[in-house]
Amino acid sequence: MPALLIERPRRTSEGGTTATLVRGAPALLTHEGPRVVSVEIGGTEMRFARVQDGELIGTPMKVKTPSRYSDAKRLIRDASHVVLGGQRPDAAGVSIAGEVSRNGQTIESAGRLQEIGYTDQPIADDVTEATRVRDGRNVVVLNDCGTGALAELAERRREMGLNPNDPVGEDGMFATLSTGYGAAIYTGEGWIVPDPAGHRFLRSGAICGDEQEGHAEAHISGSGQKKEFGRRSEDIPEYLPGTRILTPEWRKIKDDFHDTVDMTLGAYQAAGLDIKRIAWTGSVALKGPTMLTDLQQHLDHRAAREQGSSVKITEAVHGEESGLVGAGQAATLTHEGNRPFVIYYKDGINAIKGLRASR
Ligand SMILES: [Zn+2]
Repeated sequence: MPALLIERPRRTSEGGTTATLVRGAPALLTHEGPRVVSVEIGGTEMRFARVQDGELIGTPMKVKTPSRYSDAKRLIRDASHVVLGGQRPDAAGVSIAGEVSRNGQTIESAGRLQEIGYTDQPIADDVTEATRVRDGRNVVVLNDCGTGALAELAERRREMGLNPNDPVGEDGMFATLSTGYGAAIYTGEGWIVPDPAGHRFLRSGAICGDEQEGHAEAHISGSGQKKEFGRRSEDIPEYLPGTRILTPEWRKIKDDFHDTVDMTLGAYQAAGLDIKRIAWTGSVALKGPTMLTDLQQHLDHRAAREQGSSVKITEAVHGEESGLVGAGQAATLTHEGNRPFVIYYKDGINAIKGLRASR
């Protein structure tokens, strides 16, 4: 098929638009990329949206996660029908609060989703059937931090003026700190690496949700704080009355937060990664008192003392919708024949050195 060049407006990081030449087939003149449905399956809530050109179309539809998997299938069918106005999608992306199997077809482990029987179900096939996607090969299932990392990677490519599948040449991290602490990495090559960052040992003195002693998540997450202080972080006063001095609780949360990020970055450095940016979501990271500015200062001090490299701290560009946006982008890439390369979570960061050596 002869390719032709068309012009398509493209958003810049400054919010303006710039014309970009896009190589495409004639169909692109009347059809702006694939029709994509994005599904996020969280422990308490499911979200649905149409995604086009890497952006959500309209407000996502949010529904309480059904306590039976068979009901979730029906919900995906009905919600997909609504967000696409009854049309069949060309591709579907699924973001899951859990770990995805090596073949990308099922959920292997997940917190609450596991308790209610969502693991070991043929989720990719079920989404194919429920959404009536035109070609089942264009269904992609990723862990929710992985989809968040993909959304950040897409934003970096956009800022750098790169194409949707180009390498960005630097490693970055997407992290969430709310009821739990989780992360995923995008590498300079464009690989996505889910990482159970919350389940590394930080220090004794707190029991994690998985009943292990001393995991970072047990110290810094909202659920950890609830156990330790008897209330959720948002209910703990930030400052001593009439001062800008942190309460002992928040002082401890922040110290633990900084120690945890140091440990996480140390593990990544040992795996051969050089993280340049961390994009955060989650209520504890975003709503706690100056959590991210203090973290930036802490990391700057370390870099100045040559104890670590310089890392830029940001809020995730798509905020709480990062997973939904990233799942839609994963589906779009897959539809274009560029399925995102995701390292299986059990191989994780340990696989990176070997993969880089073998290239
Ligand atoms: Zn744990």
